Amino acid sequence: MTIENVSKDRKSGRISVTFKNTNPAFVNTLRRAIVDLVPTMAIDEVTFNQNTSVLYDEIIAHRLGLIVLKTDLRGYNLIEECTCEGEGCAKCEINLKLKSTGPGTVYASDLKSKDPKIKPEYPKTPIVKLLKGQNMELIATARLGKGKVHSKHNPGLAWHTFKNKITVNNNHKDFDKFKDKYPREIFTKTGKIDAKLIEENNLYDACDGVNDNIIKIEHDDSTITLHIEPWGQLTAKEMLVRAIEDLNKLFLELEEKI
Ligand SMILES: [Zn+2]
Repeated sequence: MTIENVSKDRKSGRISVTFKNTNPAFVNTLRRAIVDLVPTMAIDEVTFNQNTSVLYDEIIAHRLGLIVLKTDLRGYNLIEECTCEGEGCAKCEINLKLKSTGPGTVYASDLKSKDPKIKPEYPKTPIVKLLKGQNMELIATARLGKGKVHSKHNPGLAWHTFKNKITVNNNHKDFDKFKDKYPREIFTKTGKIDAKLIEENNLYDACDGVNDNIIKIEHDDSTITLHIEPWGQLTAKEMLVRAIEDLNKLFLELEEKI
């Protein structure tokens, strides 16, 4: 296997890695490790001291659980692997305090954390709107967790695409009969189909299977691009590196047991 290309989209933080001489099982294993095994911080327990807003405690707690928290993987343990044996300590959990009085909107930025590394990634996420005289005071406990246990711990999106080989025949006898069945974006000004335009507009699915004599699309499943787009808890690189570490650990465990 070789890595052919690595690209990064600065705006979304997405990275794309192209593997050559690989197979779908290998890339899919990585993909599943990224979404299922890579842990992230999320609020897991909330103690309400006061809530006179119009929303029930349960709704607020659910919303808090979905708030994207910047995660420091080196600084915290998973509670089930921690030296406190599941009791909860400073190495596996952190409290965030919120105290707000209406009128006004309570935002994620109102959650105050003692650890500057663990804080809401998107401070303007609204939690609840308070009217005059309404109060909210709570302590939220955030822990590391895995996406396979609860999707709030999911670190982002991961998907893979195969390399496509496109063959176009603009001179086929049925061209005029079929040309209206293809998207307009793939035609040049002179009315011919250009394979490059299919690629640029990502119209493989719209062109595939219409008429294989005019456009034939073949998938090369030994050249696969893995795309990783983070929600914000971790960077795409951290997600990939941690997934590899976690897989290594699983295989080592298996080896030891054998
Ligand atoms: Zn602990």
